[in-house]
Amino acid sequence: MSDKTPTDLLRDKLVYKPQSAAKAMNETEIEQAGRFCEDYRDFLNACKTEREAVRFATGLLDAKGFVPFDAGTKYNPGDRVYAVNRGKAVIMAVIGKKSAAQGVRIAAAHIDSPRIDLKPNPLYEDEELVLLKTHYYGGIKKYQWTAIPLSLHGVVILRDGTSVTVTVGEDEGDPKFVITDLLPHLAAEQMKRTLDKGVAGEELNVLAGSLPLPGGDGAELVKLNILRILNEKYGMVEEDFLSAELTLVPAFPACDVGFDRGMIGGYGHDDRVCAYTSMMAAVDCAGPEYTAITVLADKEETGSDGNTGLASRFLEYFINDLARAEGLEGYNVLRRSECLSADVNAAFDPTFPSVLEKRNASFLGRGVVLTKYTGARGKSGTSDAGAEFVGKVRRLFGRAGIVWQAGELGKVDEGGGGTVAKYIANLDVDVVDVGVPVLSMHSPYEVVSKLDVYMAYKAFKAFFE
Ligand code: MN
Ligand code: MN
Repeated sequence: MSDKTPTDLLRDKLVYKPQSAAKAMNETEIEQAGRFCEDYRDFLNACKTEREAVRFATGLLDAKGFVPFDAGTKYNPGDRVYAVNRGKAVIMAVIGKKSAAQGVRIAAAHIDSPRIDLKPNPLYEDEELVLLKTHYYGGIKKYQWTAIPLSLHGVVILRDGTSVTVTVGEDEGDPKFVITDLLPHLAAEQMKRTLDKGVAGEELNVLAGSLPLPGGDGAELVKLNILRILNEKYGMVEEDFLSAELTLVPAFPACDVGFDRGMIGGYGHDDRVCAYTSMMAAVDCAGPEYTAITVLADKEETGSDGNTGLASRFLEYFINDLARAEGLEGYNVLRRSECLSADVNAAFDPTFPSVLEKRNASFLGRGVVLTKYTGARGKSGTSDAGAEFVGKVRRLFGRAGIVWQAGELGKVDEGGGGTVAKYIANLDVDVVDVGVPVLSMHSPYEVVSKLDVYMAYKAFKAFFE
């Protein structure tokens, strides 16, 4: 006999109570989450740019029986394929038992993160220091990117077309880079600026050298010395910066946060946490009913425009190819397809409670967050998932034992943002945002809960299976 009163029973039946992942998971599952997150941490440390994430993904996919996609081939259930888009986005698919005419299941995450890009002509010398001019990428609070160690990542296309990969600042013993900030003693005027102008865009100059060319004479010998080092190491000359994508990212590694090690701090959880979990869900998905597709896209942080972003048609073309192999048109497949737009949401921060509405915010440790709509100013710029599809995902999560919560991106009219959801919805696909709550989003050191990360993996896997 339960000692619950009739009121308790009625309350249990009628009142919605968000779950805590730690309470809902058993010890074995919490251990599994810990192990899963060790691999995730390694992924974060290995992948600080979209190109690095694609290289990691293709290496993993090759090892897991995926083969490069051939548009002319008719694939069989269980076949595993992938297609790389310009080295900066990748689509992976496990072919389902059902015909593509029944639709496919898509998880879409992004692998670009806010960062500091070099300008086309970045290198200059001023008072015997060499600096690099930058143009930040994505939405950042610029002051957060000063006075922290940065590493340089990217690719340079030399005059003869050779592609050179650059990574400086990740290996032990590597030099690092830094954007300097003013000492407080002389910052009285700077401190009067508003926070958004505390450090201006044109003040994000990266310190990159201080020693003149040994035995040299004439002007700008420090710059010449840096060019000499770059030429020896990469075969490049100054003009080659014009055909390069070089970017500065935080140089420190991801690590556990808190006495209890329940969280991970690191650069680029947005959105590599959903990229990793949705990629692993595809890798671990054997024999799905519906073809399971994970797409890892670029350019989300600048609005998804460009040929590697999801506002472009590369995903649609891939679906068209799948459809044609079965004698179908792409739209026959798309209109019956479903998608989890796998992206992070802002977790409630007890230090800054005023920007979120507590009854509709996501919280660290309460599982994966389902975000019905994003947008701003009266839901502008969002796809707002239909109740029917949200209901379907809700039933799926219930069956699969997924700890999940609903979340909004901030209070009404507080701000807002968007994800790739609307671009996929525009293809006539049912889409809803599902991802991991993040603290300090878009900062150099974002924080997630390990249990939420594991729930995201389980959620994407349940969606595919
Ligand atoms: Mn994101
Ligand atoms: Mn973002």
